[in-house]
Amino acid sequence: MQDKHYLMIPGPTPVPPAVVAAMSRPMIGHRSEDFAALHRRIEEKIRRVFGTVHEVFILTHSGTGGLETAIANVVSPGDKVLALITGNFGERFAKIARAYGAEVDEINFGWGKNVDLTVVAEKLAGDPGYKAVLATQNETSTGVLNDIAGIGALVAKTPALLLVDGVSGVGGIEIKMDEWHVDILVTASQKAMMLPPGLAMVAVGPKAWPVIEGNSAPRFYFSLPAARKSFEKWNTAYTPNVSLFQGLDAALDMMLAEGLENVYARHILLARAVREAVLALGLRPLAEAGYASPTVTSVYSPEGIGADDIRKVLKEELGVTFAGGQGILKGKIFRIAHMGFADKMDVILAVAALEMALTRVGYPVELGKGVKAAQEVLLGR
Ligand SMILES: *Cc1c(COP(=O)(O)O)cnc(C)c1O
Repeated sequence: MQDKHYLMIPGPTPVPPAVVAAMSRPMIGHRSEDFAALHRRIEEKIRRVFGTVHEVFILTHSGTGGLETAIANVVSPGDKVLALITGNFGERFAKIARAYGAEVDEINFGWGKNVDLTVVAEKLAGDPGYKAVLATQNETSTGVLNDIAGIGALVAKTPALLLVDGVSGVGGIEIKMDEWHVDILVTASQKAMMLPPGLAMVAVGPKAWPVIEGNSAPRFYFSLPAARKSFEKWNTAYTPNVSLFQGLDAALDMMLAEGLENVYARHILLARAVREAVLALGLRPLAEAGYASPTVTSVYSPEGIGADDIRKVLKEELGVTFAGGQGILKGKIFRIAHMGFADKMDVILAVAALEMALTRVGYPVELGKGVKAAQEVLLGR
Protein backbone atom coordinates (compact mmCIF):
# COMPACT_ATOMS: atom_id res chain seq x y z
CA MET A 1 0.00 0.00 0.00
CA GLN A 2 1.27 3.43 -0.89
CA ASP A 3 2.78 5.48 1.96
CA LYS A 4 2.35 2.72 4.53
CA HIS A 5 5.88 2.10 5.70
CA TYR A 6 7.31 1.05 9.02
CA LEU A 7 10.84 2.34 9.39
CA MET A 8 12.67 0.30 12.03
CA ILE A 9 16.28 1.12 11.35
CA PRO A 10 18.71 2.72 13.82
CA GLY A 11 18.57 6.10 12.15
CA PRO A 12 16.99 7.97 10.63
CA THR A 13 14.10 7.10 12.94
CA PRO A 14 10.42 8.08 12.73
CA VAL A 15 9.66 11.70 13.61
CA PRO A 16 6.69 12.48 15.93
CA PRO A 17 3.87 14.66 14.51
CA ALA A 18 4.51 17.39 17.11
CA VAL A 19 8.11 17.65 15.90
CA VAL A 20 7.06 17.73 12.23
CA ALA A 21 4.60 20.52 13.07
CA ALA A 22 7.29 22.52 14.90
CA MET A 23 9.67 22.17 11.96
CA SER A 24 7.11 23.53 9.52
CA ARG A 25 6.77 26.82 11.35
CA PRO A 26 7.81 29.94 9.39
CA MET A 27 11.52 30.59 9.04
CA ILE A 28 13.17 33.00 11.46
CA GLY A 29 16.45 34.84 11.08
CA HIS A 30 19.32 33.15 12.86
CA ARG A 31 20.68 36.47 14.15
CA SER A 32 17.29 37.45 15.60
CA GLU A 33 16.14 37.61 19.20
CA ASP A 34 13.63 34.90 18.38
CA PHE A 35 16.45 32.54 17.48
CA ALA A 36 18.43 33.46 20.59
CA ALA A 37 15.38 32.67 22.75
CA LEU A 38 14.89 29.35 20.95
CA HIS A 39 18.55 28.43 21.34
CA ARG A 40 18.47 29.27 25.03
CA ARG A 41 15.29 27.21 25.63
CA ILE A 42 16.88 24.22 23.89
CA GLU A 43 20.07 24.55 25.90
CA GLU A 44 18.31 24.50 29.26
CA LYS A 45 16.52 21.31 28.30
CA ILE A 46 19.25 19.44 26.45
CA ARG A 47 21.71 19.71 29.35
CA ARG A 48 19.38 17.50 31.35
CA VAL A 49 19.43 14.87 28.60
CA PHE A 50 23.25 14.97 28.51
CA GLY A 51 23.58 15.01 32.31
CA THR A 52 25.77 18.10 32.24
CA VAL A 53 25.81 21.66 33.52
CA HIS A 54 28.23 22.64 30.74
CA GLU A 55 27.66 23.91 27.20
CA VAL A 56 26.03 21.63 24.65
CA PHE A 57 26.77 23.01 21.17
CA ILE A 58 24.08 22.37 18.57
CA LEU A 59 25.94 22.13 15.28
CA THR A 60 24.68 21.76 11.75
CA HIS A 61 26.47 18.50 10.92
CA SER A 62 25.61 14.83 10.74
CA GLY A 63 26.78 12.67 13.64
CA THR A 64 30.12 12.04 11.98
CA GLY A 65 30.61 15.81 11.78
CA GLY A 66 30.10 15.88 15.55
CA LEU A 67 32.76 13.18 15.99
CA GLU A 68 35.10 15.10 13.70
CA THR A 69 34.48 18.24 15.78
CA ALA A 70 35.59 16.35 18.89
CA ILE A 71 38.75 15.04 17.19
CA ALA A 72 39.68 18.21 15.28
CA ASN A 73 39.68 20.26 18.47
CA VAL A 74 41.64 17.82 20.61
CA VAL A 75 44.07 15.96 18.37
CA SER A 76 47.23 17.25 16.71
CA PRO A 77 49.50 15.21 14.44
CA GLY A 78 51.60 12.78 16.44
CA ASP A 79 49.30 12.71 19.49
CA LYS A 80 48.66 9.31 21.00
CA VAL A 81 45.04 8.21 21.11
CA LEU A 82 43.47 5.04 22.49
CA ALA A 83 40.41 3.75 20.61
CA LEU A 84 38.08 1.25 22.28
CA ILE A 85 36.41 -0.56 19.42
CA THR A 86 33.30 -2.77 19.53
CA GLY A 87 32.13 -2.41 15.93
CA ASN A 88 31.77 -0.21 12.88
CA PHE A 89 31.30 3.12 14.65
CA GLY A 90 34.20 2.54 17.01
CA GLU A 91 36.32 1.92 13.92
CA ARG A 92 35.07 5.13 12.32
CA PHE A 93 36.01 7.21 15.39
CA ALA A 94 39.54 5.74 15.22
CA LYS A 95 39.73 6.49 11.47
CA ILE A 96 38.84 10.14 12.05
CA ALA A 97 41.61 10.43 14.66
CA ARG A 98 44.05 8.89 12.20
CA ALA A 99 42.93 11.32 9.49
CA TYR A 100 43.97 14.13 11.87
CA GLY A 101 47.41 12.60 12.26
CA ALA A 102 46.97 10.83 15.59
CA GLU A 103 48.94 7.71 16.46
CA VAL A 104 46.04 5.46 17.28
CA ASP A 105 46.29 2.39 19.53
CA GLU A 106 43.24 0.26 18.95
CA ILE A 107 41.77 -2.29 21.31
CA ASN A 108 39.31 -4.36 19.34
CA PHE A 109 36.95 -6.20 21.66
CA GLY A 110 35.19 -7.97 18.79
CA TRP A 111 31.95 -7.27 16.98
CA GLY A 112 29.16 -8.28 19.36
CA LYS A 113 31.23 -7.94 22.52
CA ASN A 114 31.43 -4.97 24.90
CA VAL A 115 34.42 -3.06 26.25
CA ASP A 116 36.25 -5.06 28.93
CA LEU A 117 37.25 -2.62 31.69
CA THR A 118 40.15 -4.77 32.94
CA VAL A 119 41.79 -4.57 29.52
CA VAL A 120 41.31 -0.78 29.46
CA ALA A 121 42.76 -0.40 32.96
CA GLU A 122 45.85 -2.41 31.98
CA LYS A 123 46.35 -0.44 28.79
CA LEU A 124 46.05 2.92 30.57
CA ALA A 125 48.45 1.79 33.31
CA GLY A 126 51.00 0.64 30.73
CA ASP A 127 51.03 3.82 28.68
CA PRO A 128 50.09 7.05 30.39
CA GLY A 129 50.82 9.21 27.33
CA TYR A 130 47.37 9.22 25.73
CA LYS A 131 45.85 12.57 24.85
CA ALA A 132 42.42 11.07 24.32
CA VAL A 133 40.46 7.87 24.73
CA LEU A 134 37.67 7.21 22.22
CA ALA A 135 34.61 5.19 23.22
CA THR A 136 31.19 4.36 21.81
CA GLN A 137 28.26 4.42 24.23
CA ASN A 138 25.93 2.33 22.09
CA GLU A 139 27.57 0.44 19.20
CA THR A 140 24.81 0.63 16.60
CA SER A 141 26.39 -1.89 14.22
CA THR A 142 26.15 -4.70 16.77
CA GLY A 143 23.57 -3.57 19.33
CA VAL A 144 26.02 -3.47 22.20
CA LEU A 145 25.90 -1.05 25.13
CA ASN A 146 29.24 -0.07 26.67
CA ASP A 147 29.87 0.91 30.29
CA ILE A 148 30.70 4.61 29.94
CA ALA A 149 30.64 5.18 33.71
CA GLY A 150 33.24 2.43 34.13
CA ILE A 151 35.44 3.74 31.31
CA GLY A 152 35.07 7.30 32.64
CA ALA A 153 36.25 6.29 36.12
CA LEU A 154 39.44 4.84 34.61
CA VAL A 155 40.22 7.69 32.21
CA ALA A 156 39.54 10.32 34.89
CA LYS A 157 42.63 9.09 36.77
CA THR A 158 44.82 10.00 33.78
CA PRO A 159 45.49 13.28 31.92
CA ALA A 160 43.67 11.87 28.85
CA LEU A 161 40.30 13.18 27.72
CA LEU A 162 37.39 10.79 27.27
CA LEU A 163 35.56 11.43 23.99
CA VAL A 164 32.29 9.54 23.68
CA ASP A 165 30.22 8.77 20.59
CA GLY A 166 26.71 8.73 22.02
CA VAL A 167 24.98 9.06 18.66
CA SER A 168 22.51 6.16 18.96
CA GLY A 169 22.21 6.33 22.74
CA VAL A 170 21.74 9.86 24.04
CA GLY A 171 18.02 10.58 24.38
CA GLY A 172 17.13 6.90 24.70
CA ILE A 173 19.71 5.55 27.14
CA GLU A 174 20.77 7.18 30.38
CA ILE A 175 24.05 9.06 30.34
CA LYS A 176 25.47 11.33 33.04
CA MET A 177 28.24 13.22 31.32
CA ASP A 178 29.53 15.12 34.36
CA GLU A 179 29.16 12.36 36.95
CA TRP A 180 30.69 9.74 34.62
CA HIS A 181 33.69 11.94 33.69
CA VAL A 182 32.96 12.25 29.99
CA ASP A 183 34.93 15.20 28.57
CA ILE A 184 33.27 15.48 25.17
CA LEU A 185 29.94 13.83 24.41
CA VAL A 186 28.55 13.71 20.88
CA THR A 187 25.12 12.83 19.58
CA ALA A 188 23.06 13.51 16.46
CA SER A 189 19.47 14.43 15.69
CA GLN A 190 18.24 11.41 13.73
CA LYS A 191 18.45 8.58 16.27
CA ALA A 192 16.98 8.59 19.77
CA MET A 193 16.46 12.37 19.59
CA MET A 194 13.46 11.83 17.25
CA LEU A 195 14.43 14.38 14.58
CA PRO A 196 15.41 14.19 10.92
CA PRO A 197 19.16 14.06 10.17
CA GLY A 198 21.16 17.28 10.16
CA LEU A 199 22.20 18.31 13.65
CA ALA A 200 25.05 17.14 15.84
CA MET A 201 25.14 17.99 19.53
CA VAL A 202 28.54 18.25 21.16
CA ALA A 203 28.94 18.85 24.89
CA VAL A 204 32.29 19.92 26.28
CA GLY A 205 33.44 19.60 29.89
CA PRO A 206 36.01 21.70 31.82
CA LYS A 207 38.92 19.25 31.48
CA ALA A 208 38.67 19.54 27.70
CA TRP A 209 38.84 23.33 27.28
CA PRO A 210 42.55 23.90 27.99
CA VAL A 211 43.37 21.08 25.56
CA ILE A 212 41.05 22.55 22.91
CA GLU A 213 42.45 26.08 23.32
CA GLY A 214 46.02 24.80 23.20
CA ASN A 215 45.54 22.55 20.19
CA SER A 216 47.64 23.78 17.29
CA ALA A 217 46.00 21.75 14.51
CA PRO A 218 43.93 23.67 11.95
CA ARG A 219 40.13 23.82 12.14
CA PHE A 220 37.58 26.28 10.86
CA TYR A 221 33.97 25.12 10.42
CA PHE A 222 34.60 22.55 13.16
CA SER A 223 36.16 25.03 15.63
CA LEU A 224 34.78 24.72 19.15
CA PRO A 225 36.33 28.01 20.30
CA ALA A 226 34.40 29.71 17.44
CA ALA A 227 31.22 27.90 18.50
CA ARG A 228 31.75 28.97 22.10
CA LYS A 229 32.25 32.62 21.18
CA SER A 230 28.93 32.78 19.33
CA PHE A 231 27.21 30.71 21.99
CA GLU A 232 27.81 33.47 24.54
CA LYS A 233 25.18 35.49 22.66
CA TRP A 234 22.91 32.46 22.05
CA ASN A 235 24.13 32.54 18.50
CA THR A 236 25.89 30.06 16.23
CA ALA A 237 29.10 30.72 14.31
CA TYR A 238 27.55 29.92 10.90
CA THR A 239 23.96 29.60 9.64
CA PRO A 240 22.31 26.79 11.61
CA ASN A 241 19.54 24.48 10.45
CA VAL A 242 16.83 26.69 11.94
CA SER A 243 13.97 24.25 11.23
CA LEU A 244 15.74 21.45 13.06
CA PHE A 245 16.32 23.75 16.03
CA GLN A 246 12.54 24.32 16.11
CA GLY A 247 11.99 20.57 15.93
CA LEU A 248 14.57 19.93 18.66
CA ASP A 249 12.75 22.33 20.98
CA ALA A 250 9.56 20.25 20.52
CA ALA A 251 11.35 16.88 20.79
CA LEU A 252 12.94 17.91 24.09
CA ASP A 253 9.53 19.02 25.38
CA MET A 254 8.19 15.55 24.57
CA MET A 255 11.05 13.80 26.36
CA LEU A 256 10.81 15.94 29.46
CA ALA A 257 7.00 15.63 29.58
CA GLU A 258 7.36 11.84 29.53
CA GLY A 259 10.17 12.09 32.07
CA LEU A 260 13.72 11.02 31.23
CA GLU A 261 13.56 8.07 33.63
CA ASN A 262 10.43 6.87 31.82
CA VAL A 263 12.03 7.38 28.41
CA TYR A 264 14.99 5.20 29.44
CA ALA A 265 12.73 2.57 31.04
CA ARG A 266 10.60 2.44 27.88
CA HIS A 267 13.64 1.69 25.72
CA ILE A 268 14.81 -1.05 28.08
CA LEU A 269 11.33 -2.62 28.08
CA LEU A 270 11.07 -2.58 24.28
CA ALA A 271 14.53 -4.15 23.95
CA ARG A 272 13.57 -6.93 26.38
CA ALA A 273 10.36 -7.61 24.47
CA VAL A 274 12.19 -7.92 21.14
CA ARG A 275 14.83 -10.12 22.68
CA GLU A 276 12.36 -12.51 24.30
CA ALA A 277 10.42 -12.66 21.04
CA VAL A 278 13.39 -13.62 18.88
CA LEU A 279 14.53 -16.18 21.47
CA ALA A 280 11.03 -17.68 21.45
CA LEU A 281 11.32 -18.02 17.67
CA GLY A 282 14.56 -19.94 18.08
CA LEU A 283 16.78 -17.12 16.83
CA ARG A 284 19.97 -15.92 18.45
CA PRO A 285 20.62 -12.28 19.42
CA LEU A 286 24.17 -11.10 18.71
CA ALA A 287 24.76 -9.39 22.06
CA GLU A 288 24.50 -11.10 25.43
CA ALA A 289 21.65 -9.92 27.65
CA GLY A 290 24.00 -8.23 30.13
CA TYR A 291 25.18 -5.64 27.62
CA ALA A 292 22.47 -5.67 24.95
CA SER A 293 21.52 -2.25 23.63
CA PRO A 294 18.21 -0.71 24.77
CA THR A 295 17.78 1.04 21.39
CA VAL A 296 18.66 -1.59 18.75
CA THR A 297 18.62 -5.40 18.73
CA SER A 298 20.85 -7.40 16.38
CA VAL A 299 19.77 -10.91 15.51
CA TYR A 300 21.56 -13.69 13.61
CA SER A 301 19.54 -15.00 10.72
CA PRO A 302 18.82 -18.74 10.95
CA GLU A 303 21.39 -21.21 9.60
CA GLY A 304 21.30 -21.33 5.80
CA ILE A 305 19.06 -18.28 5.39
CA GLY A 306 20.48 -14.90 4.38
CA ALA A 307 19.54 -12.01 6.65
CA ASP A 308 19.07 -9.82 3.61
CA ASP A 309 16.53 -12.29 2.11
CA ILE A 310 14.41 -11.88 5.25
CA ARG A 311 14.78 -8.10 5.02
CA LYS A 312 13.75 -8.16 1.37
CA VAL A 313 10.45 -9.92 2.15
CA LEU A 314 9.85 -7.57 5.08
CA LYS A 315 10.40 -4.52 2.92
CA GLU A 316 8.72 -5.56 -0.31
CA GLU A 317 5.77 -7.57 0.95
CA LEU A 318 5.07 -6.03 4.34
CA GLY A 319 6.42 -2.47 4.16
CA VAL A 320 8.65 -3.03 7.17
CA THR A 321 12.30 -1.96 7.08
CA PHE A 322 14.87 -3.56 9.37
CA ALA A 323 18.56 -2.70 9.03
CA GLY A 324 21.10 -5.19 7.75
CA GLY A 325 24.53 -6.05 9.09
CA GLN A 326 27.53 -3.80 8.47
CA GLY A 327 31.11 -4.79 7.68
CA ILE A 328 31.90 -8.36 8.68
CA LEU A 329 28.27 -8.93 9.76
CA LYS A 330 26.79 -8.10 6.36
CA GLY A 331 24.22 -10.72 5.35
CA LYS A 332 24.58 -12.49 8.71
CA ILE A 333 22.41 -10.36 10.97
CA PHE A 334 19.45 -8.03 10.83
CA ARG A 335 18.91 -5.17 13.24
CA ILE A 336 15.58 -4.04 14.68
CA ALA A 337 15.57 -0.50 16.03
CA HIS A 338 13.31 0.51 18.92
CA MET A 339 14.81 3.94 19.23
CA GLY A 340 13.29 7.35 19.85
CA PHE A 341 9.65 7.60 18.78
CA ALA A 342 8.97 3.89 19.40
CA ASP A 343 6.49 2.22 21.68
CA LYS A 344 4.94 -1.13 22.57
CA MET A 345 2.87 -1.67 19.43
CA ASP A 346 5.86 -0.93 17.20
CA VAL A 347 7.56 -3.92 18.77
CA ILE A 348 4.50 -6.13 18.32
CA LEU A 349 4.34 -5.11 14.67
CA ALA A 350 8.05 -5.79 14.16
CA VAL A 351 7.82 -9.25 15.68
CA ALA A 352 4.59 -10.18 13.83
CA ALA A 353 6.17 -9.09 10.55
CA LEU A 354 9.34 -11.05 11.33
CA GLU A 355 7.29 -14.21 11.94
CA MET A 356 5.58 -13.80 8.57
CA ALA A 357 8.85 -13.10 6.74
CA LEU A 358 10.59 -16.09 8.33
CA THR A 359 7.71 -18.31 7.20
CA ARG A 360 7.97 -16.93 3.66
CA VAL A 361 11.70 -17.64 3.40
CA GLY A 362 11.23 -21.22 4.56
CA TYR A 363 12.14 -21.09 8.25
CA PRO A 364 9.29 -22.76 10.09
CA VAL A 365 8.05 -20.76 13.07
CA GLU A 366 4.92 -21.20 15.10
CA LEU A 367 3.01 -18.03 14.17
CA GLY A 368 2.26 -15.90 17.20
CA LYS A 369 4.93 -17.46 19.40
CA GLY A 370 7.24 -14.46 19.24
CA VAL A 371 4.35 -12.02 19.52
CA LYS A 372 3.14 -13.81 22.65
CA ALA A 373 6.61 -13.64 24.22
CA ALA A 374 6.78 -9.90 23.49
CA GLN A 375 3.26 -9.36 24.84
CA GLU A 376 4.20 -11.11 28.09
CA VAL A 377 7.15 -8.75 28.57
CA LEU A 378 5.09 -5.69 27.68
CA LEU A 379 2.37 -6.73 30.11
CA GLY A 380 5.00 -6.92 32.82
CA ARG A 381 4.73 -10.67 33.34
C1 LIG B 1 24.62 6.80 13.15
C2 LIG B 1 25.86 6.79 13.96
C3 LIG B 1 26.96 7.59 13.62
C4 LIG B 1 27.05 8.37 12.34
O1 LIG B 1 26.23 9.42 12.27
P1 LIG B 1 25.97 10.14 10.84
O2 LIG B 1 24.85 11.07 11.24
O3 LIG B 1 25.54 9.06 9.90
O4 LIG B 1 27.18 10.82 10.43
C5 LIG B 1 28.05 7.57 14.46
N1 LIG B 1 28.08 6.81 15.55
C6 LIG B 1 27.06 6.01 15.90
C7 LIG B 1 27.17 5.18 17.12
C8 LIG B 1 25.92 5.98 15.11
O5 LIG B 1 24.89 5.17 15.45
